[in-house]
Amino acid sequence: MKVKSLQDIALMQEGGKILASIVKEIEGKVVPGVTTKELDKFAESLFQKYGKPSFKGYNGFPGSICTSVNEEIVHGVPSNRVIVSGDILSIDAGLFYKGFHTDMATTVAVGNIDSEVNRLIRATKKALKRGIKKLRPGITVGDVGNTIERYVDSQGFCVVEGLCGHGIGRKLHEAPDILNFGSRNKGEVLPEGLVICIEPMLSMGGSAIDYCDNQITIKTSDNSISAHFEHTIAITSNGCRVLTE
Ligand code: MG
Repeated sequence: MKVKSLQDIALMQEGGKILASIVKEIEGKVVPGVTTKELDKFAESLFQKYGKPSFKGYNGFPGSICTSVNEEIVHGVPSNRVIVSGDILSIDAGLFYKGFHTDMATTVAVGNIDSEVNRLIRATKKALKRGIKKLRPGITVGDVGNTIERYVDSQGFCVVEGLCGHGIGRKLHEAPDILNFGSRNKGEVLPEGLVICIEPMLSMGGSAIDYCDNQITIKTSDNSISAHFEHTIAITSNGCRVLTE
């Protein structure tokens, strides 16, 4: 685990604020009729002003942002797919700024969506909030995962398997893995100065996942709807600080 100095965290907070504003601007463009490629192009123009999109070229990813629609969970490749009313779109974005990455995701409803899907979005956002609330030096990865898992269970949804959050810093993905399930007091102890990404990914159906035909985008095996929220958070002496808002 790579612990960050206060100066490092200050730089990451600068980057995180910029990233949050970029994501907000992209959100404003999510309307029925837009394609995910158009959203990516808009995102690219925003990133150019401030730094580099962390995802572009990462493991061969072709876009500046991930745009995952409905049953797609993460790594949605921007395409000519047209967003229509009733869809939900997860936007995942990372910014490389002054030597550090920050990473965040949000899920937005397009037009009128099913009330149960709306409940899924709210539960995913709340699961992230619950995980964040738990953070302070000395708790374990299992404490965070357990908090998220229990909340998700209580809402009648499930956490998808095989995907998780991570440490972050000079590299986009650093140790440790931050699972969305777990047992209290188990797993790595999180120290002050660690910066992590918590990212619950929930499904309305089963937890199994599959690759889409492009071999990059990951979707639910049973094609049930999925939502995703993520923040980059620093663990501080008195608790934690969300860097991407
Ligand atoms: Mg991430």
